[in-house]
Amino acid sequence: MTARTTQTTDQLLREVRACTICAAHLTHGPRPVLQLHPDARILIAGQTPGRAVHSSGVPFDDPSGDRLRDWLGLDKAAFYDPRQVAILPMGFCYPGTGKSGDLPPRLECAPAWRAQLLAQLKQVALTLVIGQYALAYHLPDAGASVTDAVQNWRMHWPAVLPLPHPSPRNNIWLKRNPWFGADVLPALRQRVAEVMATGGGDLTRTAEPVAARRTVT
Ligand code: SF4
Repeated sequence: MTARTTQTTDQLLREVRACTICAAHLTHGPRPVLQLHPDARILIAGQTPGRAVHSSGVPFDDPSGDRLRDWLGLDKAAFYDPRQVAILPMGFCYPGTGKSGDLPPRLECAPAWRAQLLAQLKQVALTLVIGQYALAYHLPDAGASVTDAVQNWRMHWPAVLPLPHPSPRNNIWLKRNPWFGADVLPALRQRVAEVMATGGGDLTRTAEPVAARRTVT
């Protein structure tokens, strides 16, 4: 990593954190929540912050994060180390709540920022693609549904892994799909441990080329 790269990343992060592109649609106002450093080796491509994360400004600072860290076998110190883990939801600001729960990520966000931010990540060895919106961007050919994509998890393994959202709202999905805990999670924990210990894996097979080509409409 060069000093120039760090400068570019820092400038980009300042611009993202000052973003107000879709402020008129955000009932709680803009507060972009993301974590990124060019050295990161694990990328978490998530959905969008919820209300608790909007309040704290800390990604996955909620029950979803507790479950996700358990899935990964990471404590908070490792999870919140930006040189290890990059966290880029599809929408960086809390979009508010609708009749059936949190609203989807704002559609303006990914086209404005995602390709530029992903281009900063040259060391990613494992990309975790969480939920339908991140799947549509990173793995558009992964399956018709999140369940299909997760069931076909070996398609992109070990560089990219589709995951269901770790929200407590998905408890029923987790109960109905016991193979996820039996097969996927042990493989995921082992892969995370390898990546954290070795500083990477096969860097030729990341989700970045797909993401860089895709335009979200
Ligand atoms: S959601 Fe994205 S595009 Fe909208 S204000 Fe936040 S950072 Fe900007």
